[in-house]
Amino acid sequence: MSTKAGGIPARIRPRSLSGMQPTSDSLHIGNYVGALVNWVELQNTYDAFYFVADLHALTVPTAPEVLRRRTRVTAAQFIAAGVDPERSAVFCQSHLPQHAELGWVMACLTAFGEASRMTQFKDKTAKGQQSNVGLFSYPMLMAADILIYDADRVPVGEDQRQHLEITRDLAMRFNQRYGETLVVPEPHILKQTAKLMELSDPTSKMSGSVSPDAGVVWLSDDPKRIAKKIKSAVTDAEMEIRYDPETKPGVSNLLVIQSALTGVPLPDLESSYAGQGYGALKGQVAEIVVDAVAPFQATMTELLSDPGELDRILAVGAQRAGEVSAGTLARVKDRMGLLPPLRGDRSSRKPPA
Ligand code: ATP
Ligand code: MG
Repeated sequence: MSTKAGGIPARIRPRSLSGMQPTSDSLHIGNYVGALVNWVELQNTYDAFYFVADLHALTVPTAPEVLRRRTRVTAAQFIAAGVDPERSAVFCQSHLPQHAELGWVMACLTAFGEASRMTQFKDKTAKGQQSNVGLFSYPMLMAADILIYDADRVPVGEDQRQHLEITRDLAMRFNQRYGETLVVPEPHILKQTAKLMELSDPTSKMSGSVSPDAGVVWLSDDPKRIAKKIKSAVTDAEMEIRYDPETKPGVSNLLVIQSALTGVPLPDLESSYAGQGYGALKGQVAEIVVDAVAPFQATMTELLSDPGELDRILAVGAQRAGEVSAGTLARVKDRMGLLPPLRGDRSSRKPPA
């Protein structure tokens, strides 16, 4: 592979990289419209790397058999959502040891105060998640996840913006200290859909590991459950259907879901509801969500019926990912002055003088 001045290998196409944690039995509609849809879109023009963030998921204590099941479900859901494993590398984070190794390097570049300012850690621990060191250093591992693939674009939801910023800072810091080595990535965050809120509390982000079941539409929920949750969504005491996230977060959240799944712009949706009440809005949104997830669920069930094939897809993805991550890590280690391990036959080495 040719090398650009400064040591970053030239890429034929720009790279897209992102991951999702297997922290629940299904991904939710926030993961879908906030990130997955963009993953699928970017794989047309980018070399895409999409992974199940099983190492990040260890920040939530989970029974081993549950983690195994969720890891396969998450991978199946990527594919059911339209990620094409022929074009995109789909893999498990833990299959590539370079993530954790570069994570250590990133931790050593991060100031303690800088890490302490990360809001995800504060939000999650405030909501009762165990505050282990893994959760605290999550952004450093996430920086490694991105930088190890020389990623140009990172399609994520709004909640990850701060982590993307620290990733950029760390890449620039490394390059300043050791010379041009790492690609500084750009976030790919689409405004309105980037943060879906809980149905039961539209002031909190819908979250796989923290939100109550009533607040989340899981991509695996059956039609009745989806309709029930959407019809029970918290709105407000007014009657008007209007996009106004500050004063009408519940109604705005439903409008955003409808707009994301149908492609109809928000102002057009508002006018289409003129003179109608919240019952009409909830009824329509429920129908649209049910229709959107039905084909998705069929593909997911089919993929999960053959875990051997799913594991094979993950192995192929890991192979492709490893071709890039091993090169980046070697480059980083060399730049930092870590001695390369001596390879070859012991007997052919010269004895020390
Ligand atoms: P957890 O509660 O374990 O953190 P999560 O639901 O936040 O789970 P992640 O695996 O952390 O999901 O995030 C996967 C991707 O989905 C990220 O790009 C994240 O920004 C995006 N995402 C998560 N929640 C939402 C949401 N409510 N709206 C839009 N995007 C979201
Ligand atoms: Mg999250």
